Amino acid sequence: MTSPRYQPAELEPRWQNVWREAHLYKTSTNTEQPKYYALSMFPYPSGNLHMGHVRNYTITDVIARVRRMQGYRVLHPMGWDAFGLPAENAAIDRGIHPARWTERNIANMRRQLQSLGLSYDWERELASCDPEYYRWTQWLFLQMWQMGLAYQKSAQVNWDPVDQTVLANEQVDSEGRSWRSGAKVQQKLLKQWFLRITHYAEELLRDLDTLTGWPERVKTMQANWIGRSTGAYLEFPVVGRGEKIGVFTTRPDTVFGVSYLVLAPEHPLVGTLTAPAQQAQVQEFCQQLAHLSAEERTANDQPKRGVPLGTEAINPFTQQPVPIWIADYVLYEYGTGAVMGVPAHDERDFAFAQQYHLPITQVILPPGVVEITPLQQAYTEPGILVNSGEFDGLDSLTAKEKITQAAQERGWGEERVQYRLRDWLISRQRYWGVPIPMIHCDHCGVVPVPEADLPVLLPENVTLTGRGLSPLAQLTEWVQVPCPQCGRPARRETDTMDTFIDSSWYFLRFADAQNSQAIFASEKANDWLPVDQYVGGIEHAILHLLYSRFITKVLRDRGLINFGEPFQRLLTQGMVQGLTYKTVQTGKYLTSEQVIYKNGECYDKETNEPVAIFYEKMSKSKYNGVDPEQVLAKYGADTARMFILFKAPPEKDLEWDDADVEGQFRFLQRVWRLVQNYREHPPKRVAESPPNERNLRRVIHQTIQAVTADTTGEYQFNTAIASLMKLTNELTDYQGDNSGIFDEGIRVLLTLLAPFAPHITEELWHQLGHEDSIHRQAWPQVDQQALVVDEITLVIQIMGKTRGTIIAPSQADQATLEQLAKNSDVGQRYLQGQTIKKVIYVPGKLLNFVLAS
Ligand SMILES: [Zn+2]
Repeated sequence: MTSPRYQPAELEPRWQNVWREAHLYKTSTNTEQPKYYALSMFPYPSGNLHMGHVRNYTITDVIARVRRMQGYRVLHPMGWDAFGLPAENAAIDRGIHPARWTERNIANMRRQLQSLGLSYDWERELASCDPEYYRWTQWLFLQMWQMGLAYQKSAQVNWDPVDQTVLANEQVDSEGRSWRSGAKVQQKLLKQWFLRITHYAEELLRDLDTLTGWPERVKTMQANWIGRSTGAYLEFPVVGRGEKIGVFTTRPDTVFGVSYLVLAPEHPLVGTLTAPAQQAQVQEFCQQLAHLSAEERTANDQPKRGVPLGTEAINPFTQQPVPIWIADYVLYEYGTGAVMGVPAHDERDFAFAQQYHLPITQVILPPGVVEITPLQQAYTEPGILVNSGEFDGLDSLTAKEKITQAAQERGWGEERVQYRLRDWLISRQRYWGVPIPMIHCDHCGVVPVPEADLPVLLPENVTLTGRGLSPLAQLTEWVQVPCPQCGRPARRETDTMDTFIDSSWYFLRFADAQNSQAIFASEKANDWLPVDQYVGGIEHAILHLLYSRFITKVLRDRGLINFGEPFQRLLTQGMVQGLTYKTVQTGKYLTSEQVIYKNGECYDKETNEPVAIFYEKMSKSKYNGVDPEQVLAKYGADTARMFILFKAPPEKDLEWDDADVEGQFRFLQRVWRLVQNYREHPPKRVAESPPNERNLRRVIHQTIQAVTADTTGEYQFNTAIASLMKLTNELTDYQGDNSGIFDEGIRVLLTLLAPFAPHITEELWHQLGHEDSIHRQAWPQVDQQALVVDEITLVIQIMGKTRGTIIAPSQADQATLEQLAKNSDVGQRYLQGQTIKKVIYVPGKLLNFVLAS
């Protein structure tokens, strides 16, 4: 028989139109059905889908499709994380307005998503740059302002001294230079907006325990980011003055070993505590540091540098004076901005003390050691206290408790919990973002824009040059507004919000995307959320997920929703890697056309330099990317989807391999031929099912069982596809009559395959004469009866010794089995002429014949 070379791409537009007309993927509002919310992390509209997107969305799409067929009402939406720096850069480079650039990119990517057959409810599409969306981002900010969770304070920014502009971290290269001007970037203090995420630090940490559907790795990363530590807050009075320096330490047991105190150079006490003789040196040091970022200052491979202030503080425990220093490695943003230097028991302090010849006093001995000998390096483990007055002889754990208690009783400090987590700096001195809805009035101070005046629209008539202050600050007409409180002339806030705010609540908006009266209706959000399955990249394991959890808790405390965690289950899909060519010595990336093979080794065609070949994450700069559009044009969407799901389990990295793509293409062709053959040459109809057909039925229901488990439990789409391939083989190889079981096999194959390959299955379904869509069919149910094995293999033993096996009907009684055994080859050989004394039968397993001796 002839099999047409099936080109899924040809059939797609036709069925896509059918689907769209039928509103196949419109979210069901039938609340009788259980709900299921499947969500992919929404993309930044860069202009083109890459394979990472294709993988992410295909995974979620299969999950959504399976649930839909299982009778759930499924919410499966898509949107655009559309604010951000690249649009602004495009504007500067190419003179196109960020809004136009973004619209064009969205249009192209939407078209690409649709060609993949992703089952989105497009009526709920949203874009974070749409005023209908960002008015609610602004509203959310105002709620947080009212709750005391939004505030302003001075913070460091990257400052380009040539262009006179603030730079985002991404705009500063690894050498600390501006991407545009090349100038050495400085740190500058600016008044900026923060969100008080630290208020939720404890809860964000504690609730990680409730996220049983999250990868452990992600939870660990979040816990480390929050960084809870318990310790003591201790105060050191400054000699001869009224000030006290507060430090936080997790090692109060080492307080008798303090040799010096260190303040961050930005610490507000630095000015007043610097002795006149040290003024010049301190000032110069602070200026040097202004050029360095926090990362550069605290990098482990950097020598620690510092300057003494020329003043001293008293260690309340020893009553001895210790010098006060400033040093690069202490950051004002962390803790109290001051630390106690204990060189004997901290590596960094040890290096610092050696460099500046500060005393090193040992106060902790390793367990079992009784004699103090000079240290070659810091001893940082717990141990037994020495040189510690009344606390000598205590172990570190007990001493921490006793010393903290003593500090509390004597008014020197208290027990304290500290978090590494900082408040969220959301101010951006950029154009393409959500304007912060605040107004600065000389008379009233900072005044929120009244809710009725939202959205504060982003003005379109802006000239972006990448130079000068914040772009919005230059639009005098936009900036000048009357104060909402007193009516006097006032100024709009010109900072825009970090785009992470846009993405920290979008999953809530999808529940009620077209609501023009409110951010969302509470009952809709409470109905659909939390998201049942969230799918996205591991690169979002910390910030995006943490911010989303934070905002969810804020909205819960505001009474808008009744849950505190947004995402029930999280799947972080692996990367898509491409074959990469890189010269061994110079590290240059090459295309496959630029290399040549000689004696099995790979060389640069031009220079003859040896070339290494390996898999690496696809990227334009490495010439190892595969364009989804080309794959779709060549093989169609179904093959692309099948390959990406079959090649690796979803959370593992996937190596692109054209041969495996071909493999999936051929598999879909086999399915096509199988169905064509069945249509043209159906097996002969019989009333009762032949035995081999009963075996086929077992395979059919084993496949249902396996594919169901692989698409709803632990996601193993690769083994699900392997099961479907096996069923296809069984159906193809089947020779014989048909009592309807073969029909069932074809039907089950197509319905199980439909979520993976939605186009070809729809086409075949219609060819079989069905009027409605395959995607509206119920998910096949496992018939437990079909799984029952008809025949068993029975072990035959003679006098306890295994002599062979027989195949027997599973329902046969003992007498029948004994007869079968006696008639078998084994029976002929060992039982003939013997007197059987006893038969031991282990049901379903073995028969043991005991003979008379
Ligand atoms: Zn005012």
